[in-house]
This record gives sequence, structure tokens and C-alpha cells, in this order.
Amino acid sequence: MLELASLKQLLAQPRKVVITTHHKPDGDAMGSSLGLYNYLIQQGHHVQVITPTDYPDFLAWMPGNGEVIIYTDHLEVSAKFVAEAELIFCLDFNTLSRINELGELVRASSAVKVMIDHHLDPEDFDDYRHWDINACASAQLVYTFIVNELGNKAMINKDVATCLYTGIMTDSASFRLPNTTSDVHRIAADLIDAGAVNWHIHELVYSNSSESRLRFLGYCLSEKLEVFPEFNTAMITVNKQELEKYDVITGDTEGVVNYALSITGIRLAAFIVERTDKVKLSLRSRGDFPANDICKKYFNGGGHRNAAGGTSTNSLDEVIEQFKLILPEYKKLLIQ
Ligand code: 5GP
Ligand code: MN
Repeated sequence: MLELASLKQLLAQPRKVVITTHHKPDGDAMGSSLGLYNYLIQQGHHVQVITPTDYPDFLAWMPGNGEVIIYTDHLEVSAKFVAEAELIFCLDFNTLSRINELGELVRASSAVKVMIDHHLDPEDFDDYRHWDINACASAQLVYTFIVNELGNKAMINKDVATCLYTGIMTDSASFRLPNTTSDVHRIAADLIDAGAVNWHIHELVYSNSSESRLRFLGYCLSEKLEVFPEFNTAMITVNKQELEKYDVITGDTEGVVNYALSITGIRLAAFIVERTDKVKLSLRSRGDFPANDICKKYFNGGGHRNAAGGTSTNSLDEVIEQFKLILPEYKKLLIQ
């Protein structure tokens, strides 16, 4: 592991830097990446943000977004950036498998690798780590990295603040999750003071749906929601035909699972969707119910206690059956 002093020394002159984040980036992935990007470019570094896949339109407005390249659209250019980088920042993910094929390119690169993340059980591929599972967002950790470790609070300008606020806001589910501590609110206040326009960011992210997205949500809630009161569990499942019918695009399914969790007494909610080559599960839970445990044990995934995900190569119907069969195992925890 590299000492902080050595990392600071490295950053003392302009470097070739790559910033990457997990596939299907969410608000924290993009917010933390572009927050760090906007910080580093002020110091003359040559910075390239590379995402493994595309991401939703409601995240494609942050300062610096125009400079992002998507790996799947630019394979060769991305590989060149990774191979030539002197520093690679890995944001909001804990294992290289979370960045798909980019992972092996990052592993093979001789760059110094810095992980800034808040997921459990990080893989040992990095040279420097700013990691805390208690952080509500990786964007919070980018803030503490810049302010506490690099001692550069003055360089949190409006662009940095806007991106970091977005990451914190989305990963804390709008300052609602239990890890939204008073420190998080103090950081949010600092970011607003630095120029983040909080109400506008909320609008850009949450009041930016297409009509079809809203109709899809309506369909999920009226036709596809199943509640299992004996397990305090609710589930929404969607197949390929339904996705096509509602012209569902990247990001349209985000947040649907939270509606299932908002029913009184529900402790576990699942959103199960049939993608092209696999079935994807998104689990959310309340309190101390470990949603990540189910994902890790049965669905090849993981995540946080209250927000976790996984996948399966079984059919949608099989996955739904499997999920229902798992519930009795967790009954004690679910009905507490
Ligand atoms: P989502 O349901 O929004 O896709 O994911 C919620 C959280 O679960 C993510 O922030 C991430 O931490 C985790 N997660 C989702 N999918 C996977 C997966 O396939 N593997 C692992 N390890 N974690 C996942
Ligand atoms: Mn995150």
C-alpha cells in the first residue's frame, strides 16, 4: 500500500489520470467520478472518466459529463487511456468484476490504483484506499479525500460541489437512509456553500422522467406488485415484453423498488427484471435486515445491508420462484 505522502507527491505534478466506476453507473458513481474529475482538472492533470457501460439521461447533465467516454462504445481508446495512465481512481466499486471487461485492463495497468469506496469486502487490487462502509456515498468519501487527506477544501468549486452533492443525495435516497449522519448534512451544507444548487439538482435528477417512464411505474404498481404479508415482503417483477411495451430505457427502472418498500410494515422489497442475457434483482430493506446476504448467497451479487443487487442466468419465472422459496429462511428476521 502507498502512503498518503507518496500519493500527494505523485499528484503534485500533472499526471495522466483515469477515473472509472461500476457498470450501469448510478448517481453516486457519476457524482463521485465527476466530482473528482472537476477537482483534478483544476490542478492541470489530464483526466479521462471512463464508464464501463451507459447510464441514464437523468444523470447526464453534471459538469464534465461531455468528456466522459463509455467503454463499450470506445473499446480501443479506453484501453489506451487505461494502459497509459499513471494513476487510476476506482470509484464506488469494490471488485474489478464490477467494471466488466475494463477490470482486467485496470488490473494489467502499471498505474497507481486508488480505491475510493463504501462497499463491504473490497478486493485487494489497489495501491491506496480511502474506504469506509459507514459512508453514505462514495461522493462523501471523495469530499473527505479532498478536504481531509489532500487538505484542499478551497478547490471544492461549484462544479465539484454539484457532482458530489448529486452523489450524496442519490445514494442516501435523498438524505433518508440511516447512514445520513449529521456529518453528511454538514458536508451537504458545505457543498451548497460552495455553489451546489440543491433544489435544482433534485429537480434534474428526480423530476426528469419521460412520460413512458411514469406510465411504466404506474403499470408496475397497479399490475405487477405482489405483497407477501406473512414475510413483510413486497415484490415487483417485469419481463422483456413489458420492458419493450413501455419503451423502457437505461435508468427507467431505477427507484421502482423503493415504492414496494414504502408500504407500511414492509421490511424487504424486490424488483426482479428480465434483461437480455440475465435476470437482475434489486433488493431494498429496512432496518437491520441484510438484503446483501440474500444477494450474496443466492444471486451472485452483494451490496449494502439496505440496498443490494444480484443476477441469475435462470429464467425469470425460476428466479421469482427461487426468491419466494428463500423467504421462509429469513422469516424470523423479516417479522421482527
Ligand atoms: P441496484 O439494485 O441499484 O442495482 O444495486 C444496489 C446496490 O447493490 C449497488 O449500489 C451495489 O452496491 C449493489 N449491487 C448491485 N448489483 C450487484 C452485483 O451484481 N454484485 C454486487 N457485488 N453488488 C451489486
Ligand atoms: Mn455508492
